[in-house]
Amino acid sequence: MRVLKFGGSSLATQEKRRTAEELVRACRRDEAVVVVVSALDGMTELLEEVGTAAAAGDRTCVHRFLAEIRERHEGSDMALLAELEHVLFGLAAIGEITPRTRDLVLSFGERLSAPLFAAELGPEAQAFDGKQAGIVTDERWGEASPLREVTRFEVSRRLRPPLDAGRIPVVTGFVGATQHGAYTTLGRGGSDFTATLIGAALGAAEVWLCSDVDGIKAANPKIVPDARRLDTISFLEALEIVQFGAKGIHPRALEPAIEHNIPVRIVNTAHPDRGATVIGARRASDDAHVAGSVHLVEDVALLTVAGAAMVGRPGTAARVFQTIADAGINILMISQSVSEAGISIALRRRQADRARAALEGALVRTGYVRGIIVEEDMSIIAIVGEGMRGTPGVAARVFGAVARAGINVVAIAQGSSELSISFVVSASQGHSAVRALYAELVS
Ligand code: ASP
Ligand code: MG
Repeated sequence: MRVLKFGGSSLATQEKRRTAEELVRACRRDEAVVVVVSALDGMTELLEEVGTAAAAGDRTCVHRFLAEIRERHEGSDMALLAELEHVLFGLAAIGEITPRTRDLVLSFGERLSAPLFAAELGPEAQAFDGKQAGIVTDERWGEASPLREVTRFEVSRRLRPPLDAGRIPVVTGFVGATQHGAYTTLGRGGSDFTATLIGAALGAAEVWLCSDVDGIKAANPKIVPDARRLDTISFLEALEIVQFGAKGIHPRALEPAIEHNIPVRIVNTAHPDRGATVIGARRASDDAHVAGSVHLVEDVALLTVAGAAMVGRPGTAARVFQTIADAGINILMISQSVSEAGISIALRRRQADRARAALEGALVRTGYVRGIIVEEDMSIIAIVGEGMRGTPGVAARVFGAVARAGINVVAIAQGSSELSISFVVSASQGHSAVRALYAELVS
């Protein structure tokens, strides 16, 4: 059995959906298939906007949106569209949108695309939303976590019978439901996560994430035009790459695949024959490259908590990280300098002000900390690869190449897994750093 997940770009128009349907039929010649679909391209963003507009009482915007969505989903379940209309005008009447109703609004993107795709695929296809398919989650609206045991049991209970009857289940990605039946969403890009959850529950041989790229490249082709494709990478390498936000794979999507050792294939829907990246397969032993890939994370701020009084005072680091976590901010990279007694944290630039305020509130008055310095306009460079593990001299080559390119390194971190080295540079030097490292370590 194989799970095929299609991203919104592969579903955007009827023509694109035909291409996706061809791939489903081709795979089905060999084995049973479960399809997982995203919302049509741009739909989640649009639903987000119209939800906000509805709550602000903008009925004109709601009407305009409903017309557009009706047109794009011609052939889908129109009863659902009527339901969405009720919800939106309900929001307009109440004048507010809560995290819970926001999830309900967002769920319509996939709940409308699944019946549409199923109808076009043919009579053997059967649409399921996440609730009907048995994706049971907690109540963390907007970023819900599946209850793994229940979900595994329920998905298998609900999808096995149609599969055994020769049907093709077409399941909404991204959407789940609480144990009480309220719709939840798994976070942006969550359809990948749905696909691997279903793959794990049904013991799939492979999960395919189908979109408009031919796999994961060793560097962003916009920066390194001839960057090679990574044919096979380990789960651990993929985890590092996904952590840095490369490739837009949902950060948690690999968890079920790793637990059940199910390979995940990144495929181009229109050109499945062009080659793909297989995550989970072992690296080819003849691969001579030290590093697998070089990644750039832009729009980063570096926040440094400075203060000599931190030296030898256990618990300061814990407080720093706890404060950031309590503010709901994700840390991209950590580095601690011994001599200056500072802790530097890289995070998304848009969260820097909030992080600074939280840390000032929690720490500065304690007197342990001298001050908090924020450097905006930074980028993180991450070099990832199994080949670096236990290979002496990698760090020297990395920083040698960067130095020769005249790039100043602001902070450095290496995970103890030795699978990645990451460092911070000023944003203006990010692209040249990627090119220098690709040339030195990958090409
Ligand atoms: N439709 C959701 C999003 O755009 C989930 C997904 O596409 O995976 O984030
Ligand atoms: Mg999308």
